[in-house]
Amino acid sequence: MKNPNIVILGAGYGGIMTAVKLQKSLGANDANVTLVNKHSYHYQTTWLHENAAGTLHHDRTRIQINDVVNTSKINFVQDTVTEIKPQEKRVLLENGELSYDYLVIGLGFEAATFGISGLKENAFTIGSINSARLIRQHIEYNFAKYNNEADKKQERLNIVVGGAGFTGIEFVGELANRIPELCKEYDVPREQVRIINVEAAPTALPGFDPELVEYAMNSLEARGVEFKIGAMIKEVTENKLVFEKDEQREEIETNTVVWAAGVRGNSLVEEAGFEANRGRIPVGDDLRPKGFEDVFIVGDCALIMNEETERPYPPTAQIAIQEAEHTAANLTRLIKGDSHLEPFEPDLKGTVASLGHNDAIGVIFDDKKLFGWSATAMKKIIDNRYLLKLGGIPLVLKKGKLNFFQ
Ligand code: FAD
Ligand code: NAD
Repeated sequence: MKNPNIVILGAGYGGIMTAVKLQKSLGANDANVTLVNKHSYHYQTTWLHENAAGTLHHDRTRIQINDVVNTSKINFVQDTVTEIKPQEKRVLLENGELSYDYLVIGLGFEAATFGISGLKENAFTIGSINSARLIRQHIEYNFAKYNNEADKKQERLNIVVGGAGFTGIEFVGELANRIPELCKEYDVPREQVRIINVEAAPTALPGFDPELVEYAMNSLEARGVEFKIGAMIKEVTENKLVFEKDEQREEIETNTVVWAAGVRGNSLVEEAGFEANRGRIPVGDDLRPKGFEDVFIVGDCALIMNEETERPYPPTAQIAIQEAEHTAANLTRLIKGDSHLEPFEPDLKGTVASLGHNDAIGVIFDDKKLFGWSATAMKKIIDNRYLLKLGGIPLVLKKGKLNFFQ
């Protein structure tokens, strides 16, 4: 009998962790496992805001796939998925196609732009090594350009971040660290530079602990971040951003808008014909979409409901990793002839968010609040723990955040 083909799409948290777990749990004669990814590397999306601000080089964030995946056990295909055809059990790639017996989709997120005028064309997003590197270079270019023009343009030094969710807050935290360095390097007065975070909801970090939100805003404001709260972004052009606050229309001159105001699942998944909800695919507790016994969805493309709150779980790396481990175990059961799949339930350990490299906030174990050094240290522990799971101690030593006093 021929070995079943397992195809994993995407080497983000969900995809690569599924592959790494399967390479341990399945033997060469159990199944052929193929991992497909756009790039030769996996990147830690959770560090991209640091790369975008320029506080951490992107080579720290990316990990070559063949450093953690044993390519004699897992077939790695570097290619871009262009279409998923679940009815035909096929996946089309830019340079070929694959057929599968079991498919694991881990193609991650893309920016949700809500049809806002000019956003797609004129705003940057933090979504990959390429997009983060572009933001870093764009900001540096504007600093370099500023003193080379006779009419100094303020729009070059106004950096606007759309959305004060965790991505927006973590990014402005890094900018608050980075901007003074850039000012020194490019002879730009610090007071000339504005970092403006625009949030539509009545508070930053809506839904998060109010005391920690206040701590975060005070910490960031003290380092020069301005907040526009209750301000809905309406339009972005090449050199301005328009928002509405208290029914008034206001404009900020800027040629740097970084959109961090929402994500959705990769469009390819919706286009494949699975029933979708804001670009994410509702899956059962076996992580399979209704009607597709041979497809598993992990990470930001999957939508799972929290029965307690009756709301979807937020798309996070924490959940993506757990879904991947769970899916690898269930697939191993299936391949070894056990058709009983274990139900998945997220085990939420908490949330910790950085406010630059020397401050952070967090809630762990349901209600333990952290801020300052202890939260910063906890964030590094979380990051190092992931690297340990993925590639053991050698990977922690190579890529980990080991300096707890910086
Ligand atoms: P991703 O990590 O997005 O990976 C998707 C992979 O698929 C990528 O490797 C990509 O190259 C590949 N891919 C995409 N399209 C194609 C294609 N067509 N063909 C081939 N390959 C493709 N969550 C937390 O829990 N904690 C945090 O601290 C945290 N911090 C964050 C900070 C930032 C700045 C951001 C943006 C998000 C953060 N998140 C955090 C959320 C977290 O990063 C996501 O939930 C997580 O990345 C989802 O993992 P994933 O495996 O679904 O997808
Ligand atoms: P989000 O959806 O959590 O936050 C987006 C924010 O943008 C919201 O506060 C929303 O009110 C605001 N917004 C939406 N439209 C707007 C508009 N037109 N004008 C102004 N503001 C607008 O998105 P995110 O912050 O990118 O987070 C995505 C996911 O990644 C979440 O699940 C989050 O928990 C996770 N994440 C976690 C961490 C962490 O744990 N440290 C860090 C980053 C992201």
